[in-house]
Amino acid sequence: MTKPSVWKMIKEAVEHFNGKASNSDIKKYINKKWEGVNNRTISDQIHVLTVNSKSRINYNINKVPRLTNSGSLYDLLYTTGRGQVVLYNSTEHGIWEIYKDGSNKLRVRQFGNNSIPKTYLFLWNPKKWDWKSLEQEIDILNSNGSFTRRWSCGKTKSIQPGDRIFLIKVGTEPKGIIGSGFAVSETFCDEHWGSENKNTNYINIEFDILLNPNNKKILTVDKLKVGNLSKQNWQPMASGISIRPVLVDELEEIWFNFLTAQKFKYNPFIPKENNPQKTYREGTPNQILATIYERNPYARKKCLEHFGYTCFVCDFNFEKKYGQIGKSFIHVHHLTQIAKVGQTYEIDPINDLRPVCPNCHSIIHRHKIPLSINELKKIINENAD
Ligand SMILES: [Zn+2]
Ligand SMILES: [Zn+2]
Repeated sequence: MTKPSVWKMIKEAVEHFNGKASNSDIKKYINKKWEGVNNRTISDQIHVLTVNSKSRINYNINKVPRLTNSGSLYDLLYTTGRGQVVLYNSTEHGIWEIYKDGSNKLRVRQFGNNSIPKTYLFLWNPKKWDWKSLEQEIDILNSNGSFTRRWSCGKTKSIQPGDRIFLIKVGTEPKGIIGSGFAVSETFCDEHWGSENKNTNYINIEFDILLNPNNKKILTVDKLKVGNLSKQNWQPMASGISIRPVLVDELEEIWFNFLTAQKFKYNPFIPKENNPQKTYREGTPNQILATIYERNPYARKKCLEHFGYTCFVCDFNFEKKYGQIGKSFIHVHHLTQIAKVGQTYEIDPINDLRPVCPNCHSIIHRHKIPLSINELKKIINENAD
């Protein structure tokens, strides 16, 4: 009798035990049915097949990042601990992934939970580093919609592209938040900004807002000592500390309200008449153009709480189509009526924003003057058979 591959033997064994077996059950079953299979090989193969085994990445077949809903034959088992495995079921056990961390090392984690963006606090201390080009960088940000520069992240290596970043000024008055943005790289090592012959870790931050504390109001620390936020340490010793998830919503809200209350020369959230497509790349692989306002976490949250996650143009819903992995995924589009945008324009996430799928969003922004939702609906209807 030709022997099947060991992984097939394991599959048969677990199925024999009605989808739940201990490692020793599996070994006994295999040793009884086929001769000469090494117990060590069986143990190793169980790890290879187990979606939530950290050591599965030590085997060649698992050395390429993937999600466990990709149809791989090797995403077969799930360990419930204490040497027990069950047949893997993505609905019950969640989607897992093999991924590369900040230092390019393969790791295993549950997909979804851990991929929700985290929020980090970065520091600028003018006593330690004179930011001579700040005003110049703000100018670039104001004309392009974003500005990307590297920032040292201390010892923190867990920051991932897409994570939210707040920049806080410490050391000299006024102390407080002067900027926000998103991480657009993983951590990388380079020469230290303050001393030669020394290295430190950096990430690239794409800033959406930067304020010069010499000529603009900033969100001072005393305004952050309210409610739950008073529990956060706003004067940490080093960059890269994470803000506890329960505080993030409050921080985003205070920051958003602070920014909208400022009398900026022009409102950074609102496209200007002479530059209606004040857009920048959304941090997604398909590189949708979006305005700052469309990406603001607080504005997004308010809009989606109100309208839900179904595309306003074509009714597409990611969770309906893709299940769990599509949950809560959608873009938001800013309904700008340029003619009405004046100095008195008030920002209101529910009146101004609508959920749209990335396809509709791309088409809306295909031309310099964005299509209205009704125009796009009409186009879709005209092209329907
Ligand atoms: Zn759509
Ligand atoms: Zn848009």
